Parts: sequence; structure tokens; C-alpha cells
Amino acid sequence: MKPEKITIEVIRWSCSNPEHRHRTQEVAQRCIDTKSKPKRETNIWTKENLKSILADRRSGMTYKKIGEKWRGISAQQAACVVYRAEHREQGGKYYLGKGKWVVDTEW
Ligand SMILES: [Zn+2]
Repeated sequence: MKPEKITIEVIRWSCSNPEHRHRTQEVAQRCIDTKSKPKRETNIWTKENLKSILADRRSGMTYKKIGEKWRGISAQQAACVVYRAEHREQGGKYYLGKGKWVVDTEW
């Protein structure tokens, strides 16, 4: 019996991080997409967008679908945004940033 040398081809997909070695293109792409997002995104949850989300939800759209429509956020995050929109609609205080809490006087 003698040793047999075999070669195994391993495919790794590269992303923006040289330390990563992704097994599939899909995962690498997802990694790139995540990384290329700006660290601090401008707030897209404007009153108009929140109203639109509430309208979608009330017309029966699932949280998953809502999430896909809005930057591909998770269903859980979408549910959270819907909750926040309802809260604002009902005149609840919401955080404006920089330590400011405000109430929507006209929704
Ligand atoms: Zn990566």
C-alpha cells in the first residue's frame, strides 16, 4: 500500500473581507451587501413611509412582505416598525433623536 495523493477542489467566494471564505456566491453577496451599507443610514421611517407601511399592513400585507419592501428588513423588524407607526398614529411619544421625544400633533 502506498500513499495516494488526491486533490480536492474547494471553491470559496470572496467578499470585501479578505479573512472571509464563503462557500457559496449567495452568502458572499449577502456579506458584500451588508458591508456596503453605510454605517449610519438616514432615517427612512418618515411619517409618509410609516403611513404607507400601516396602510400595507392593514390591507393584509405580511410583516415578511413589508420587510422585503423596505430595505429587506426582517419580519420582526417590520413588526416593530408597524408597532411604532401605530404608536405615533395614536399620539404616542416617539424619539426624534438627540434626546428629543415628540408627539405627532397631526398624523
Ligand atoms: Zn464576507
